[in-house]
Amino acid sequence: MRLAEREWMVQTQLIGRDITDEAVINSMLIVPRHKYVLEDKQEYAYYGTALEIEAGQTISQPYIVALMAQALELKANDKVLEVGTGSGYSAAVLSRIALCIYTIERHDVLAHLAKERFQNQGYENVEVRIGDGTLGWTEKAPFDAILVTAGGPVIPESLIDQLAIGGRLVIPVGDKGDQKLLRVKKTVTRELIEENLGSVRFVPLIGTEGWSELN
Ligand code: SAM
Repeated sequence: MRLAEREWMVQTQLIGRDITDEAVINSMLIVPRHKYVLEDKQEYAYYGTALEIEAGQTISQPYIVALMAQALELKANDKVLEVGTGSGYSAAVLSRIALCIYTIERHDVLAHLAKERFQNQGYENVEVRIGDGTLGWTEKAPFDAILVTAGGPVIPESLIDQLAIGGRLVIPVGDKGDQKLLRVKKTVTRELIEENLGSVRFVPLIGTEGWSELN
């Protein structure tokens, strides 16, 4: 369903820009983005924009989802942590590329909806947890890749600790209005190599190692 719209999205917004990772492109051709947005927003699901979802949150624009997924340099047997499940769309995209996805959301309404969507689509390699993702998911660590889809003031130490040797962490860092999308790689000597992938604008990462809910 809606394959033509997904093909149009991939051609114009991903391949037409700088997305070259075939696994990412194929995954975004498969995952039905319209099933991850509010019913009255479905007609815009394949446009190049972020859209409002439940709990006052957003689903990122397709290009940003692709850019982050590509930056994670995923391999088929990777174990991935996502912080900020939101609609579940980016976890669904990652689930068609990597072995298993652990995703954490602080709003229970979003976590429940996402779980339902994964079940409906038969995406059995995604596990959802309600909680503060800035602390990671200790029982499932280490992770080959970690994606944070909300903007924090700093990179949470817990996430760096839970990143495997050779692992990649992608996270927006900056103030609440705009952030730099950072990729951090952990080398065999546990050195961290940081790259700036450009300017982005995400909802705030709220939690113990993120922003406080009050400010
Ligand atoms: N990945 C999502 C998608 O595909 O729809 C986009 C998520 S939205 C831009 C960011 C999400 O991060 C929101 O749903 C927000 O509630 C969540 N969030 C913010 N701080 C969090 C935290 N500390 N732990 C878990 N989720 C958090």
